[in-house]
Amino acid sequence: MRLPMIAGNWKMNTTVSEAIELVNELRQGLDQIDNVDKVICPPFISLAAVRELIKGSSIKLGAQNIYFEEKGAYTGEISPLMIADLCEFVIIGHSERRQYFNETGEITNKKIRAALKVKLQPIVCVGEKLEENEAGRTEEIVTGQLRASLAGLDYLTGLIIAYEPIWAIGTGKAATAKQANETIGLIRHNIFELYSKRAAQNVRILYGGSVTAANATEFINQPEIDGALVGGASLRANQFLSIVKQAAEAKNRLSG
Ligand code: PEP
Repeated sequence: MRLPMIAGNWKMNTTVSEAIELVNELRQGLDQIDNVDKVICPPFISLAAVRELIKGSSIKLGAQNIYFEEKGAYTGEISPLMIADLCEFVIIGHSERRQYFNETGEITNKKIRAALKVKLQPIVCVGEKLEENEAGRTEEIVTGQLRASLAGLDYLTGLIIAYEPIWAIGTGKAATAKQANETIGLIRHNIFELYSKRAAQNVRILYGGSVTAANATEFINQPEIDGALVGGASLRANQFLSIVKQAAEAKNRLSG
């Protein structure tokens, strides 16, 4: 059985002291919840401080982005090696990167390769825009993004996929659990076609887009959905803790 994962994407929120405060609110409660991978992804500048605070706990750390070169004259960029020194995970290809920073499928692919090379586990985001969804193009767009992201990759070990319909991110308008389950099933089918039955059975695929404490269980209960990538609600300790607890309870129900 795939271990559920709840990952909190803090985006460009929290100063270092605010990040420390949020981790202090989360640490004890999160550490007590088993059977779920609990990942927090603060801004780059807080990673080192947060890492110290979660040392010895079961909380894992992720970054929100990386550059694809390991070192050199790339002013302002952060390399996979730097992140691998601090984190286990990195979010790659988030729709906000694609939309505001012109990240193409090719760039996403290079970043995923760079992450895997240094044993960082990429959380690769795919998802369609509202107009694409309304035009019935979800399957085409998501499949295209997925195949471009994974182009030339021989193995997926450690790679996680997040289906994040763009119209559901930060809007308060989540997809229905059934819609999300269907698209995630489609992603899993693509993994089967591209790799193997085993790869499709093993890869963890998350849903992201306006997940809150009020709707998390609906998503996590779906057979294809292995957890959630959470934006806004991950900045509120009680919300994030509740979402993680719901994932643990769903898993216990399934295995019990
Ligand atoms: C995200 O940023 O990946 C996200 C899903 O955001 P939100 O939960 O705020 O919709």
